[in-house]
Amino acid sequence: MSSGDPGSDDRSLASRIAADLAAALAAGTWNAYDGPAGRELLVSLGRRFSRRHVQTVASGTIAVELALRGVGVRAGDEVILAAYDFPGNFRAIEAIGATPVLIDVDPAGWSLDVDSVAAAISPSTRALLASHLHGSGFDAPRLSALATERGIALIEDACQVPGATIGGRVAGSWGAVSVLSFGGSKLLSAGRGGAVLTDDPQIDQRMRIANDRGNLAYPLSELQAIALLPQLERLDVMHRLRQRGAERLLEMAHSAGLIPDRHPANADDPAWYKFPLQFPDEATRDAARARFEQAGIACGEGFRGFWRRTSRRCRAVGSLDVARLRSVGSLLIDHRELADDRIERVAAAIEASRD
Ligand SMILES: *Cc1c(COP(=O)(O)O)cnc(C)c1O
Repeated sequence: MSSGDPGSDDRSLASRIAADLAAALAAGTWNAYDGPAGRELLVSLGRRFSRRHVQTVASGTIAVELALRGVGVRAGDEVILAAYDFPGNFRAIEAIGATPVLIDVDPAGWSLDVDSVAAAISPSTRALLASHLHGSGFDAPRLSALATERGIALIEDACQVPGATIGGRVAGSWGAVSVLSFGGSKLLSAGRGGAVLTDDPQIDQRMRIANDRGNLAYPLSELQAIALLPQLERLDVMHRLRQRGAERLLEMAHSAGLIPDRHPANADDPAWYKFPLQFPDEATRDAARARFEQAGIACGEGFRGFWRRTSRRCRAVGSLDVARLRSVGSLLIDHRELADDRIERVAAAIEASRD
């Protein structure tokens, strides 16, 4: 069992990776195109996220683009996403020549508002790209039912929430395709990397074709797989530790009015990549950020969002007021700060932010 000390957790992870690397160097498998760790990672991810087909790729960003291609998005199609989301998601839609259609964020959290989806659907809508952000998930059971009913493919961006349960199922199992990131700051990290997961062999095949130029165009390496395997094994232990820290912060943030009442909306068991606080405007957020940084807390602002983008690049549906508020007023606390030995410092900074 883990001691709860992130220092000792980091050290035990590092020594495990070092041992696995040494073994791969000795066995001569470390530089294989298609080595045992890479194959084991595919199996482990499939099991962990309850998916039949898994491909590991170079980043979450390219995973989103492959997912869009996998469900058949083409130039001229429309793809619905929240006006507050990871910037690369908008760009991935544009990269295919499709048009992003922006909807608002759930007032109870940071993910898209399922109530806003129906009004955004047009005859050109091919896919819905939905991200579970900052602890809150989107309402996956409702969104998935709506997508099925309207014949639209749901792409689930689970980059921020490996380990979470939403609507009684593991996050990453809801989309026609679901997407993971193994980027440098993520909960599962090899510095770079990602994955696409699906149960549909045809979607899987289309993604393989999009990634195939004779050799893989967007591969994950054996070395990265070696670093990821032990993290996947201890995901549940780390998840529990972060959850304990997040519960302490949630109580304080709720009572200080710095987080929506129902947050973490929709997740039965949320995963915390970033713990969010909502300030009323940019100036108040920036002042808080300065105080948090002064206290040595790793934090940053939320996504800039897409509500400023011109109608030449996208179609906006509704006021997008919540997305705007999230983008100007969010302060995101890094998951490392949820560790037992750091949490009181964050709690004190939240306490000092009461108005
Ligand atoms: C990090 C992230 C991505 C992209 O992942 P990279 O591996 O950094 O390219 C996509 N979506 C969300 C919600 C993310 O947080």
